[in-house]
Amino acid sequence: HKNDISYIESYLNEAASIVEAKYTLNLMKENSLTDQLTGLYNRRYLEEILDKIAASTIREKSLLGILMLDIDYFKKVNDTYGHDAGDAVLKELAKTMINSVRESDFVVRFGGEEFIIIAPETEKEGAYKFANKIREIIEKTKFMYKKTRIKITISAGVAQRKETNSMQDLVKLADDRLYKAKNSGRNRVEIN
Ligand code: GH3
Ligand code: MG
Ligand code: MG
Repeated sequence: HKNDISYIESYLNEAASIVEAKYTLNLMKENSLTDQLTGLYNRRYLEEILDKIAASTIREKSLLGILMLDIDYFKKVNDTYGHDAGDAVLKELAKTMINSVRESDFVVRFGGEEFIIIAPETEKEGAYKFANKIREIIEKTKFMYKKTRIKITISAGVAQRKETNSMQDLVKLADDRLYKAKNSGRNRVEIN
């Protein structure tokens, strides 16, 4: 339909000023592929890049780790401090994650309070350590909202590209392990 990037793209390709068209398109793409609240990549972006990442991983026979992270009892944060406080935490958490990853990693806001980190060139043990490091950093971070400290922990599931046949399965596997981490006490990382 009319809001489709491909529709806009073909429209802009026929537009008079190529330079202007490209500029507008880049702006629009940026807006539609990043999350308004946190500025992280969104799920749509992830879906666009998953196949490309898979192809290059196979081509270059390289490693790929995935981390699926979810805030523990986040509903309670909203219930206790209000939705604005919840939003502030999400923003701060996104910053914390960005500051904790490498340049080559992709940090995605997958859902409301659920995040995916794609870590190229990372084997399973490395991905586990990486996830645990982020978990610890978040546990220690003092999230503040109007002078009130809000304690946040996350749970995570980790998987390695070699364990699955497709990127979709890889996401699913990380999600299953996240579920396990939730069921075995939260504030922890599962890799099996
Ligand atoms: P669990 O430890 O099992 O993950 O518990 P939870 O409370 O984090 O999980 P649940 O899925 O029950 O609730 C998620 C909550 O996240 C509910 C929803 O209100 C909140 N949430 C999702 N997106 C946003 C957002 O953009 N802003 C705010 N403030 N809250 C959000
Ligand atoms: Mg949660
Ligand atoms: Mg959730």
